[in-house]
Amino acid sequence: MSALVRFLAAFCREHPVDEKTLVVPSFVAGRQIGEALTRAAGSWANLRFVTTPALAAEILERGGGAGGAKPMTSSAEIALTDRLFRELLAEGKLGHFSVAGASPGLSRALHRAIRELRLDGRTSSDVRPERFLAEEKGQALALLLARYERALESGDLLDLPGLLLRAIERLARTPFALTWILCPEDMRLCRLEDDLIRAAGGGRLMPVPGDAVFGLDRPRQCRPAQAPDGRSGSDRLSWLFAPGQAPSPEKEARIEIFRALGPTNECREILRRLYTEKVPFDQAEVLTPPGSAHATVFYLLSARTGLPVTFGDGVAISFTSPGRLFFGLLDWLENDFSSDNLCALLENGDITLAGGAPDGPLAARTACRHLRNAMIGWGRGRYLDRLAALREGKLADFDALQGCGGGDGGDDNEARRAAILTAAAEIEGLAAAVGRILASIPGPDAAGTYDLRGLCEAFIGLIGDHARGDSEFDRRARQALLDRLGEFVTEGRFPAMPLKEALDLIRTAGASLRVGAAPPLPGRLHVAGLVSGGLSGRPLTFVAGLDEASFPGRGLQDPILLDEERAAISDSLPTSADILRSNLFGLAAVLASLRGRLVVSYPSYDIVEGRESFPSSVVLQAFRLLRGDADLDYAALEKALADASGFLPGAGRAFDETDWWLERLSAEPRPDGPRTVAANFPGLAAGLAALAARAADKLTAYDGLVDIGPLREAIDPFAGGGAVMSATRLELLAKCPFSYFLRHVLKIEPPEEVEFDRSRWLDPLQRGSLVHEILCDFMTGIAEAGEDVEAARHRALMTRIAGDKIAGMRRQIPPPSEGIFESERRDILETLDIFIAAEEKRENRGRPLAFEKRIDGERIEVAGGRSFRLRGSIDRVDRLGPDTYRVIDYKTGSSKPYEDVVYFGRGRTLQPALYAVALEQILARERPGGIPRVAESGYFFPSRRGEGHEIMIGDFDRDRLKRLLADLLGFIESGAFIAGPGAKCDYCDFRDVCVSGGPDSAKEECEATRKVIEAFRKLDEYK
Ligand code: SF4
Repeated sequence: MSALVRFLAAFCREHPVDEKTLVVPSFVAGRQIGEALTRAAGSWANLRFVTTPALAAEILERGGGAGGAKPMTSSAEIALTDRLFRELLAEGKLGHFSVAGASPGLSRALHRAIRELRLDGRTSSDVRPERFLAEEKGQALALLLARYERALESGDLLDLPGLLLRAIERLARTPFALTWILCPEDMRLCRLEDDLIRAAGGGRLMPVPGDAVFGLDRPRQCRPAQAPDGRSGSDRLSWLFAPGQAPSPEKEARIEIFRALGPTNECREILRRLYTEKVPFDQAEVLTPPGSAHATVFYLLSARTGLPVTFGDGVAISFTSPGRLFFGLLDWLENDFSSDNLCALLENGDITLAGGAPDGPLAARTACRHLRNAMIGWGRGRYLDRLAALREGKLADFDALQGCGGGDGGDDNEARRAAILTAAAEIEGLAAAVGRILASIPGPDAAGTYDLRGLCEAFIGLIGDHARGDSEFDRRARQALLDRLGEFVTEGRFPAMPLKEALDLIRTAGASLRVGAAPPLPGRLHVAGLVSGGLSGRPLTFVAGLDEASFPGRGLQDPILLDEERAAISDSLPTSADILRSNLFGLAAVLASLRGRLVVSYPSYDIVEGRESFPSSVVLQAFRLLRGDADLDYAALEKALADASGFLPGAGRAFDETDWWLERLSAEPRPDGPRTVAANFPGLAAGLAALAARAADKLTAYDGLVDIGPLREAIDPFAGGGAVMSATRLELLAKCPFSYFLRHVLKIEPPEEVEFDRSRWLDPLQRGSLVHEILCDFMTGIAEAGEDVEAARHRALMTRIAGDKIAGMRRQIPPPSEGIFESERRDILETLDIFIAAEEKRENRGRPLAFEKRIDGERIEVAGGRSFRLRGSIDRVDRLGPDTYRVIDYKTGSSKPYEDVVYFGRGRTLQPALYAVALEQILARERPGGIPRVAESGYFFPSRRGEGHEIMIGDFDRDRLKRLLADLLGFIESGAFIAGPGAKCDYCDFRDVCVSGGPDSAKEECEATRKVIEAFRKLDEYK
């Protein structure tokens, strides 16, 4: 029995009918003390448990209320601090802090300083600037505190210190009713709390002794202890910090120590020990230092495996579904309504949207598919437009299918029409649901700033309507968020502010929230903090997370009130050394009060950072006490400890499915994992077969050597004409046949998504097609007017066309910022200037004849008397003479990749030659009687990178082209889609999913490879 319970049991026996009030750090702690007392004393009466704020509220209540004053929560206090800080900043009165500007982090730090000063009974008049190392800081802090005090007074508000002070003042006039005030000696109190307890207790204040702690000084914030009565009644753990004087060790060791690879494995090891030793969960408690990840790990394990756990300090709200929704919505707004953020919320199931059938929610996958297909990207204004465009596109597809009538694909078409109508209805529902959400979020005012209150109200609406409440944690999280946001709405007098600042401030409403705090319950493991735990009376206690960085802490000074300044202001403001001492003493007091077994542990490796971590001094002290030797050092501890517990549980120690699998997979003899997986998962079996085939010496279908027999009609351009080629397709085939296979045979395409890239508006393809369109319209206008390009005369025309086209593109793809749009717009205009200048200087001008000239399935002959069909579009055709022509293709990139091209660029630059041949055939038909000849064909690079260069091929050998095309198309004909030596994997769309392994993985020894490599070498001859 702990000293505290022993004392209370005796006191209750001596004063059975007197009213007794025990001051406790939390109600959860009070409940545990009551239960321990019941176990120890059997029964007790007239004892109740109160926290200091609850005691203060009760005193005011009994004395006729707080006179209409409204108590505040800590987030309301932070919000008030932030508002006053902004006011002073705007008035230019903040001096020292004005450089940093307003931010939620600074507001929180200032609020902490103000609260500490006020809890110590200090007022703004005590904050004298000359007591600060930087006087300017003292002035600013005093000013802020004075403004804060006035705001409380004028608003009749009670922050926590105000509440305590009001109660103390009330007690001076009206003493508390006759009751014993019992206060644990080891409870750490600030000055106002101590004053309150003294005033409330008067002559009936009774200190409650804790278990003795030897070897440590009591912190200043604890009440002085009665003289310890030596060894009597003290547990051996009382000597944790004086192991040399401890009674001799028990025969049966009560202290155990282990280490683990990171906090997750530490928690798993605790559970493995409980399962292995068959300890019921409600016989154990886990204590962890403040700020450690252990409670979160237990929560996640409990959510995944149904582990029964109670949390003395609750869990961070960000791990609940409403918490994720809250923070996800903040990110959504902060990222300019990025559709990726909305999709993440949908995919996690933290928000559902209407639009499903009938009147149900739309499946997350469907909603995300529509949002992505709509190419929204970001921008609140784009959602409805893009979704409407997507829906219209679907309806146009529907009409087109209707137009096909019954046709061949009767049933098929029917099913497709039905699917299109379903999709159109879903998109309509989705647009309505997203529209409602967007409409509820206020936009900026004329100055571009936001009303915080309006944003908070929008968040209240969204969380109220959409947050899930499936579990108790979720329900509490939703309510807690609504309450906190409600406080911001009530505070409501914030100046309008930029969106980022408003969102940061709203973020503070949820940042420190924890929910689901509960006392230990039957059948459940209890996880609590070192400050609030250790009261369950359970026979087994784990103290986890005792690495040197986490406990007793780093002893950093408060950034607002430095230690020296604290000491100058008051003799009772805690310094960083006090806090360290207090942490250490608090742990020692808790451990001294424990009865039963103690297991201490620490994470010995930081898996995220990839570095070793070391035990706290407490672990060494526990080791010394365990061995009964005060001289042992860290080296001895290191030697004595077993290897760190890791991911492998060890034989018979698995506690969940993950452990079970790892145990099976690591046991000897090793099971045949791949065969077991293959037998149970057909998809993975196919993947494993592919891996094995690629690892073997022979070329197989998994390397790209495929039997195209069944597909020949569709993919071989020599067979039946089903496959129509383009210059780009042929060039891709020459670069990497495997890439051709993925794109044009398997028809794999990278997902088309609009990515939110803050540094760019248009990607190279979008920009290229925009410039093409502008140049085409411009040159069409010039040609129709029968003029030659002249910079001075035609720049206005170009600017007008460019302005319209750029605006149209902007409607389709929103720029991330005005600055980036303007910079890219200038670049495009510069490209157009370069074009005009180069056109003006052109020596052989000719006459522009056609733009965007279509090539529709033109038959191109190849060696051996065969042919294939070609399609494409020629940017521009100039007429140079009666029967001579020039073909020009605009390129917005650099001319460098084309500098070595003589005629065909090894098959990788085929377009000039192909277009020349195709155009000659087309013109021969269109203009009978002549023998048209393309004298020049190539590229024009009108950008800054291309410097207005032109790369043209002249007259070339048509027969060589035919032989090249026959060789190239031979890859398709023979089904040899092997990555060739010219594959440029770094620039390939498929590099993230490519399974070929690239050109280096070609199986040199294989006969088939030799043939393919030979074929590639042949291409090299066609320079
Ligand atoms: S990643 Fe390399 S080997 Fe694979 S398809 Fe692309 S270019 Fe070819």
